[in-house]
Amino acid sequence: MVYDIIIIGGGPSGATLARMLDEKYKVLLIDKRNLNDETNFKCSKCCGGLLAPDAQKVLAQFGLGLPKDVIVGPQMFSVRSIDIDNNIQKYYQRHYINVDREKFDRWLISLIPKNVELMTSCVFKGYLEMENNIEIEVFNRGKAEKLSTKILVGADGAASKVRRMTFEDDKSPDLYISIQEWYETTKESPHFISVFDEEVTDFYSWVIQKENRTILGAAILDYPNANEKFQILVNRLKEKGYKFEKRVKREGAWIMRPRSLKQINLFKGNVALIGEAGGFISPSSAEGISYALKSGSILADCINKSMKNYGLKYKRKTFKLRMNILVKRLKSLLMYNKFTRKLIMKTGVLSMEVDR
Ligand SMILES: Cc1cc2nc3c(=O)[nH]c(=O)nc-3n(C[C@H](O)[C@H](O)[C@H](O)COP(=O)(O)OP(=O)(O)OC[C@H]3O[C@@H](n4cnc5c(N)ncnc54)[C@H](O)[C@@H]3O)c2cc1C
Repeated sequence: MVYDIIIIGGGPSGATLARMLDEKYKVLLIDKRNLNDETNFKCSKCCGGLLAPDAQKVLAQFGLGLPKDVIVGPQMFSVRSIDIDNNIQKYYQRHYINVDREKFDRWLISLIPKNVELMTSCVFKGYLEMENNIEIEVFNRGKAEKLSTKILVGADGAASKVRRMTFEDDKSPDLYISIQEWYETTKESPHFISVFDEEVTDFYSWVIQKENRTILGAAILDYPNANEKFQILVNRLKEKGYKFEKRVKREGAWIMRPRSLKQINLFKGNVALIGEAGGFISPSSAEGISYALKSGSILADCINKSMKNYGLKYKRKTFKLRMNILVKRLKSLLMYNKFTRKLIMKTGVLSMEVDR
């Protein structure tokens, strides 16, 4: 049997594409995580789990609202920016929604119509282009299998195997390693904290509370020394009076940081990329969920019109999304230069006073 579309990855981008593809297509979604078994909560995506206004807007455009069990406390209305390099601290108003990322992903999967086949706990190993179809190899619950499709979509995130196989000669976005440590907490922190410290990373670090847990995270380019850099961060925040209670979890994941539009790859023949696999993520804030939702829905729209020439349509329709990443790239040049950041923060523009 030949599928019309096989999607690798059931994160926000893959789940959105699977939900929005026309019923006329025979669609299969594959994920190595067990995303449709409620008893098996063990492979959560390492993520801050903050839904930015852009992601909220896309959900609204989809006609979706969040179920309450996906939302976690506290809901935070501000970011506390700690600039260690310049010894400045400021508060800015922000409108995030704090979610349980595992439950968010499972909720998106639950919206996929029944005509789409799901193969979970199934690892994509590789593909071969045949004369008419693409043959893919998977490891499905411990057994090797081969499947055929007309279009293959890589929605398999920052370390995308589909991307590596399809665009092996192209330059990928920088890959950062992100480490997150989860600590027990008995105090409520009403702010999302962002930390700028060149000794730790040229990107940023964060503290986010999820109910009675506090996440401390950092995205670090220098991965051979990532553990030492992370320890510098822990010590720095302790020096600033931040108390970390008992550590309950440590996790890691790759995260992309595109530096030019050339690093965003969309399609080659009948292989397409969406979400972070394609390079769709903000280089200034690492916000990736809105781009994943948008790129998934744009590709669905293009394929629904016709499977022929879907790629060129996809390229055209993602123009605004790619320009948006370019703007974020320019913003990041200002934000991550300690002199311009100092100037901006010192002026106090857009910052606010907070009672402590
Ligand atoms: C530490 C960290 C914090 C972040 N915080 C935020 C945040 O607060 N807000 C925000 O908007 N963004 C955040 N991001 C970015 C965001 O998580 C991603 O950009 C977003 O999840 C991308 O969605 P996606 O669907 O493209 O890929 P993913 O969500 O990564 O999903 C990829 C899917 O593919 C599956 N997969 C991968 N390889 C295979 C394979 N070989 N076979 C089968 N299945 C496979 C995975 O199991 C996964 O389900 C963060 C990222 C990191 C790393």
